[in-house]
Amino acid sequence: MDTANLRSRWDAIVIGGGAAGLSAALLLGRARRRTLVLDAGSPRNRFAAHMHGVLGNEGAPPLDLLRRGAEEAAGYGVVLRTAEAVAVRDEGDGLMVALDDGSEEQSRALVVAAGITDDLPSIPGLAERWGTSVLHCPYCHGWEVRDGRLAVLATSPASLHQAKMVRQWSSDVVLFSHGLGSLDPVEERRLRARGVQIVTSPVAEIVGDESSVSGIRTADGAATAVDAVFTGGRPIPHDGFLDGLELARIDFPHGLGSFVQVDPAGRTSHPRIWAAGNVVSPMATVPMSIGAGAAAGAAVNGALVEEDFHLAEESSLAPADR
Ligand SMILES: Cc1cc2nc3c(=O)[nH]c(=O)nc-3n(C[C@H](O)[C@H](O)[C@H](O)COP(=O)(O)OP(=O)(O)OC[C@H]3O[C@@H](n4cnc5c(N)ncnc54)[C@H](O)[C@@H]3O)c2cc1C
Repeated sequence: MDTANLRSRWDAIVIGGGAAGLSAALLLGRARRRTLVLDAGSPRNRFAAHMHGVLGNEGAPPLDLLRRGAEEAAGYGVVLRTAEAVAVRDEGDGLMVALDDGSEEQSRALVVAAGITDDLPSIPGLAERWGTSVLHCPYCHGWEVRDGRLAVLATSPASLHQAKMVRQWSSDVVLFSHGLGSLDPVEERRLRARGVQIVTSPVAEIVGDESSVSGIRTADGAATAVDAVFTGGRPIPHDGFLDGLELARIDFPHGLGSFVQVDPAGRTSHPRIWAAGNVVSPMATVPMSIGAGAAAGAAVNGALVEEDFHLAEESSLAPADR
């Protein structure tokens, strides 16, 4: 093995400096691992001014948490670099990560924590209100709009569950069901029994002032007054740079799509690659992503500890014994 090469390479590269990636990096830095975080700087919740359901950080601006997390990781020697990973190559005893500036970085292990993009329905008035009055997660924002006039705009089979969930935060819920196709009569009866109104005409426009919503206009010309809209974008994982490694994938139910498969500690089917957060778990909130990142960071260190002992034993053996 080329020892000059060994000295210059990282123990771990973390792709993505959001909640999951910084949490993994914090564990790795504290475990005295040479760790590089590559971050493109677009965390998923950047559209929201405040985050909720995050113990100890209730109501804090999402970017504040990441700034503090980056400082904490840097305090243990983690190097943070603004850059995008564009490809990963398997080199047998390590991995080579290619960056968008043309440079390359070598590492013994990789944590993929690059998040997702929410591919939003293309309805006028929707995207510009995402994260303020057009919402996706009642655990994150339901309390703030409790007892309001809440709309659920169906985009996939998962929207039926979303409508039932939102009913927990208000008794005034309207389901715009066009995206579900024809509703199962049993489900329709259940929804109506809990007071959920159903509008079948397709949504034409979301209307309101600036970032607030005042109503929904449907294709039949009708208008429904609402205070907030819940909907779901199609989650697109940022994992294209792993193409070619043929990692095992799993199809999530309700049309959520295909994601890299991981075990509970975040290990993928590749022995040097772990993944955590939304990139493998699109429903994970900030605290869930922090937990998954911590688990992956610890698992990476554990694997490197074993490898360190194995390499030490190998190099201590006389050539004839190897
Ligand atoms: C509008 C909105 C509001 C939300 N509010 C809440 C809330 O109140 N409470 C809550 O718990 N959860 C909330 N969430 C969910 C929260 O955003 C996610 O749980 C969390 O961001 C997941 O963390 P992550 O680290 O997996 O991904 P992210 O936070 O998205 O971080 C991924 C990082 O990786 C970077 N990246 C992507 N590709 C690459 C690449 N190729 N190379 C280098 N870097 C790359 C991205 O730029 C980004 O900085 C909200 C989500 C949305 C959409």
